[in-house]
Amino acid sequence: MKGPELKIIIIGGGPAGLYASILIKRYQPQFDVQVFEQNPNDATFGFGVVLSDDALNFLERDDSETVQHIKPHLKTWNSIEIVHPEEKIVIDGITFSGIGRLTLLKLLQEQALALGVDLSFDRRVEDISNLHADLIIGADGLNSIVRSQCGIDFNIDYQSNRFIWYGTDKEFDYLTQTFIETEFGPMTAHHYTYADGYGTFIIEMSERVFTNTNWNHSDERHYREACENIFAESLKGASLIANNSIWRQFPNLECTNWFNGNCVVIGDALHTAHFSIGSGTRLAMEDVIALVSSLSENDWNIGTGLKAFQSKRQPVLEKLVQAARNSAEWYEQFDRFLQLPPWEFALSYIRRAGRLSDSKIQQLSPEFGRALVERNLLEGDLK
Ligand SMILES: Cc1cc2nc3c(=O)[nH]c(=O)nc-3n(C[C@H](O)[C@H](O)[C@H](O)COP(=O)(O)OP(=O)(O)OC[C@H]3O[C@@H](n4cnc5c(N)ncnc54)[C@H](O)[C@@H]3O)c2cc1C
Repeated sequence: MKGPELKIIIIGGGPAGLYASILIKRYQPQFDVQVFEQNPNDATFGFGVVLSDDALNFLERDDSETVQHIKPHLKTWNSIEIVHPEEKIVIDGITFSGIGRLTLLKLLQEQALALGVDLSFDRRVEDISNLHADLIIGADGLNSIVRSQCGIDFNIDYQSNRFIWYGTDKEFDYLTQTFIETEFGPMTAHHYTYADGYGTFIIEMSERVFTNTNWNHSDERHYREACENIFAESLKGASLIANNSIWRQFPNLECTNWFNGNCVVIGDALHTAHFSIGSGTRLAMEDVIALVSSLSENDWNIGTGLKAFQSKRQPVLEKLVQAARNSAEWYEQFDRFLQLPPWEFALSYIRRAGRLSDSKIQQLSPEFGRALVERNLLEGDLK
């Protein structure tokens, strides 16, 4: 449908910004859509991200074109493996797909360019008051300048656990959660394949254990080698690959108002969701779908469209963010849960986000469910 000619500036060429440019240009080809990204087009932090089956189904429902574009590049597994110090347990029936972050960005860049989006790399925006547009979309991640310069009220608090994001030149059979006891205390690694021959390897531990390691006072190479030794069994001789890898505490970000005037924030600039439920990218892309449909339904009237965006999206988002918070809280206490025997531990793991009832666990993961029933940890035949 041909609508008004609008100029839209998007700050940030991550998944949220690129995807916003694609959807806007797809439905309103006459709009002038510009994306400013501070990095070169082939630079990114991190390695691979995971998308749950649920996430892909949601995306497919709204935009099968993009899902079909990325599908050939996904690595998919149908189970999670929990490596408890005493036993390995496979939780069947839970499907996740991994993709390299850079691959995902390249695919989105290709789509955006084909639609005529004006993409500028190596262009950091410092001051949004110099920008002139009908709509400014802040897709500029956690440290968003759009959020701080356009009058959005927000709050950030931090999980106490420490984590670091590494890659590795090794594939894994499943999305694996390895929990181990070390001389410093318990540590965990979230690891999965995201491309042929490559995996993501995120290491996490409590603040107490981190203090015991003293790694805050050592150089990156020292703690990388120490982590390679600690997780040698999982890595099977492969090395950890650093890319801006530093010890961080996961930030929980919430915004009170999502827009002000003609500025709106989406993706990590608007909210965060702990990586243990693999939802950050999904949430960013779903924000875009909700934003573009709210604006379209309001004939691209920016004021009413942005209001509709927040009221439509906020209740849905809050549920997922709460699930991610629950999961993050479980990880904050995994030292304590490790005292449980392996199957009790695996059950507590799968229940951690508070979204799976006992009957749903049995439905999703029949073999795991049966094994829990045999051990009297779940009642059989729950409907
Ligand atoms: C350890 C870890 C693991 C994760 N694992 C997963 C996972 O498995 N699955 C998943 O879905 N998500 C995962 N995430 C989350 C995911 O990376 C983010 O939620 C997702 O990238 C959000 O996309 P975004 O586009 O909103 O923000 P970002 O990806 O942060 O992109 C923001 C972009 O804006 C650019 N930018 C910032 N400021 C400016 C400026 N002033 N001018 C110009 N450009 C600017 C940045 O360079 C960047 O390219 C993980 C996050 C972490 C930390």
